[in-house]
Amino acid sequence: MGLNIVLTGMILNVMPIGEYDKRITILTKERGKITAFARGARRPTSQLLAASNPFSFGEFEVYERRNTYNLVKATIKNHFRALVLDPGTVCYGFYFLEMADYYAQENSDEKELLKLLYQTLRALESTAFDNRLVRRIFELRLLYVEGEYPNFFSCLGCGKKEDLQWFSIRQRGILCSECAHEADAYYLDESTLYTLQYILSAELGKLYTFAVSDEVLQKLERLLDRYLSVYISHKFNSVEILKTIAG
Ligand SMILES: [Zn+2]
Repeated sequence: MGLNIVLTGMILNVMPIGEYDKRITILTKERGKITAFARGARRPTSQLLAASNPFSFGEFEVYERRNTYNLVKATIKNHFRALVLDPGTVCYGFYFLEMADYYAQENSDEKELLKLLYQTLRALESTAFDNRLVRRIFELRLLYVEGEYPNFFSCLGCGKKEDLQWFSIRQRGILCSECAHEADAYYLDESTLYTLQYILSAELGKLYTFAVSDEVLQKLERLLDRYLSVYISHKFNSVEILKTIAG
């Protein structure tokens, strides 16, 4: 027995299958990450042609049978067209989709991740924000959603909340000047620390509302590059493309 259900979500990844079909990965509010088969979606006349591309957000009607999903119909509310049409910006978008795909699980609650991804793509699409900053906000907030974030609020050694100046990647957090004996702890200035704390504690709707100096941005970049290289062994293809843009 099969069943038609409607899921709200965003397409993370699309794989061509055979001559006319697609296999799509959708991050959904109701079922976490799912993979659905879209029969005939690459035929020019298919209703699913425009509705089965990466970034598409909306409602997906799927036929569910024995843990496999077939896409029947899609009602797309946001195609993120401005983003898709901007080659310099879309690479960031693909990186965010790839990271979300890496972290999201099937049949788990991924509502926060879906909301974060949606807000982030909106910020990316807007010209008001520096894409480099959007990237770092997304990375850190994603670590927060997944419970893998460093502690920037109290000293890992003694628990105090003042005099927090030293960041240890190995210990995943901040230390006060008395507790920071480690060689791997490095100095973090007040503005950068405040920015990191804000990214972890702001309401999602207020996450993309600020700018930072170039100096702080460079510090965020260095810190997150080091942290991610230690704690994520996975290599994201889209990161390589971003390096080309930045270089
Ligand atoms: Zn301490």
